[in-house]
Amino acid sequence: MIMPETDEPSFNEFVNLNKACNQRCLFCSAEENILAQSMKEVNAVIKRAGGRLTIGGWEPTLHPRLAEIVAKAGKAGAENITLFTNAVLLDDPAYVRRLVSAGVNTFHVNFPSHEEGLSDFLTRSPGSFRRRLAGIRNIFGAPGRKHVSLVFVINSFNYRTMPEYAGFVAANFPSVIHVLFTALCIMGKAEKDHSLVPRYGKIRPYLASAQAVLLRRRIKCLIENVPLCLMPGYEHASFDARQAFASGAPAGAPGKSQHEQCGGCSLKAACSGLRDDYFRVYGSRELKPSSRRPDDIARTIKLLKAARL
Ligand code: SF4
Repeated sequence: MIMPETDEPSFNEFVNLNKACNQRCLFCSAEENILAQSMKEVNAVIKRAGGRLTIGGWEPTLHPRLAEIVAKAGKAGAENITLFTNAVLLDDPAYVRRLVSAGVNTFHVNFPSHEEGLSDFLTRSPGSFRRRLAGIRNIFGAPGRKHVSLVFVINSFNYRTMPEYAGFVAANFPSVIHVLFTALCIMGKAEKDHSLVPRYGKIRPYLASAQAVLLRRRIKCLIENVPLCLMPGYEHASFDARQAFASGAPAGAPGKSQHEQCGGCSLKAACSGLRDDYFRVYGSRELKPSSRRPDDIARTIKLLKAARL
């Protein structure tokens, strides 16, 4: 099996398997935004996927034919198959073994809190925290080569806990390939309740501290949806900037834009700007043109990547 050149999430070829979930997350952005694809569409994606395929949906482990679909993708040439999951159903070790032997190599686990009460509150699913922990342990315990990455969706209830979360991950799951902190998109439930969305200025010190904890413990940290000027000193963790420096092309992503402050910013070429949905709610007042040298950040990213961080 060939492992990816980069273990950073790939959204190139993505299939959405279903429109059902076994959690009711307060911050869910799937609602009204993710539709299940028909088997015909799934087969078409598998056919053109090449080496990498990502499988999502609301919760793809609920799909009765998941293992079969994974195996089919493997036969069609997908050597790196990533599964987006909340890991609740992976508390069944036999199911995990089946998925790994069918060909899932990376489990991208939505892990919204390391605190049982907060996790069960955020997911509105009592008991899901313990099942998710068991699921992650089952993935690590299953025979075969596979990775686990963890996703923390930053919201008003959990952002202050990020440094402790990082410590928990380092103590309990030091072999994760990365932790992705992603600022909540104002879609789905957050679109109806903006109080779920903390301002980037507020999350900044906690995010800085969390990434420092992970870096000290030699765990890769990625940050998504935060403009570079709002993560000063740890721009190297920006998912968009890492992609931009790796490709040499200017950063840019659908649904993100630069604003008037960006004109005089030294990091303009490496930054995708602010999410448009965030701008519509909070405006762009928090942006401050950076004077950091892009070369310094590119060098740091190169060193970190060489160390698999
Ligand atoms: S000022 Fe604009 S270009 Fe510069 S880092 Fe902030 S959002 Fe990005």
